Amino acid sequence: MNIGIKLNDMSYRYDVFQIVNLFHTFDQIDFVQEDYKYFIDIENAYMKIGSEHNIKTYEFNSKLSLKDQIKKYIYDFLSTIYGVKLPWGTLIGIRPSKIALSLIDKDYSEKDIIEYFDEHYSASADKARLCINVAKYEKNFVNHQSNNISIYIGMPFCPTRCLYCSFASNPIGPNKKLVEPYLNALKYEIEEMKEFIQRENIQIESIYFGGGTPTAIDDNQFEDLMEYIYDRFLRNSNIKEFTVECGRPDSISLNKLKSMKKYGVDRISINPQTMNNDTLKSIGRNHSLEDIIDKFSLARFMGFDNINMDIIVGLPGENILNINKTCEEIFKLAPDSLTVHGMSIKRASRLYEDLCLQKKYTIASQKELNEMYECTKALADSLNMLPYYMYRQKNMVGNMENVGYAIKGKEGIYNIQMIEERQSIIALGADAVSKIVFLDENRIERFPNLKDLREYINRIEEMVEKKKSFLRALY
Ligand code: SF4
Repeated sequence: MNIGIKLNDMSYRYDVFQIVNLFHTFDQIDFVQEDYKYFIDIENAYMKIGSEHNIKTYEFNSKLSLKDQIKKYIYDFLSTIYGVKLPWGTLIGIRPSKIALSLIDKDYSEKDIIEYFDEHYSASADKARLCINVAKYEKNFVNHQSNNISIYIGMPFCPTRCLYCSFASNPIGPNKKLVEPYLNALKYEIEEMKEFIQRENIQIESIYFGGGTPTAIDDNQFEDLMEYIYDRFLRNSNIKEFTVECGRPDSISLNKLKSMKKYGVDRISINPQTMNNDTLKSIGRNHSLEDIIDKFSLARFMGFDNINMDIIVGLPGENILNINKTCEEIFKLAPDSLTVHGMSIKRASRLYEDLCLQKKYTIASQKELNEMYECTKALADSLNMLPYYMYRQKNMVGNMENVGYAIKGKEGIYNIQMIEERQSIIALGADAVSKIVFLDENRIERFPNLKDLREYINRIEEMVEKKKSFLRALY
């Protein structure tokens, strides 16, 4: 659908767009002079908003900034005509917990913060409370030493490509020939970066091996790579956490679990996304509920006592019954942490085409999505988990958030540091982006590795040289 907006003051164009986009996420929004769906007149003391059957006038007051008021009034108008309340109101930032943290630092009480979220952003008390809880965690964990870093290692292969994937991930079947050359290039980068880190006397706090799917490669390749990582970064070190995001249960084997145990992995992630076989099939994941249960049980049997599971709320075709089933099955397995993602529909995904352009799938209504989130919250509660990190993305169905819950002591340290952007991350592998954080200046510099797999393999030496010069200039 095309949504035309007639706006008299284009200096507020971006703010207006952001709020209208919350209600028309998958529509085309244009600013026009004629054939418009909404008109917005911003004057000195008031603003007028109208659509075909409704016109509303709002008076400005001096308490909130003009921008916040304009957003709030557009939100109020659209929320009334559509009969929909969005839990985050007008908040669209990636890290809303930062607002709560700044208010806690100013000695606001919990009640004051909840009121602040309502008054400024029309956000619900539940979301304000979530921000407060996460902010309290952040205060304890967040990095304060500039010499402390984390390492990210990326594996750009997956068993198959998920319907909603927008990452530079390659299905391993047709790309088998690229695996060995990739592993060689990655090892070269690991070795070079290890030398840099040692020379500069940098401390590694955590290592996160993600992707893609790190366990997509075969058992021997995996064992060899794990040994290589262990020798370069973990031997004789006091690293606090080594996570491997196994992801797909169909890529996990007894041998890979043994390799991870042998080489110091203390946190793994087994990600079902949903516990409904029909959905798993339709989103292109080649595994079943039974595979998830088998691999999870095997990992427990092998002694992994910090296992995370990822699930997604708002998968195409899923409703409250599906989420109930997912929550029931996860409760039985009792992981140590749980990451609940809202479905984010990126333009680079097949899902965007299928959903928005060809209308092959449906997504639950806002009301049902709210209930589905409540279910995941209740699951975390019943597993004695607390929310410890959170971030939001653009184009999430239901305008929700991604939340990490964990049993006390089982939080993913890397996740907190990565989201808070208070710790430098040296990232290795195709498409990995290093971030150097200057704590005193509140500044971040980034170095993106080559994104394309073949380019990464063919130009690894040149890329590593550039990266070293970049890092040398900063350290
Ligand atoms: S497992 Fe993750 S990276 Fe791999 S295809 Fe699915 S969404 Fe993409």
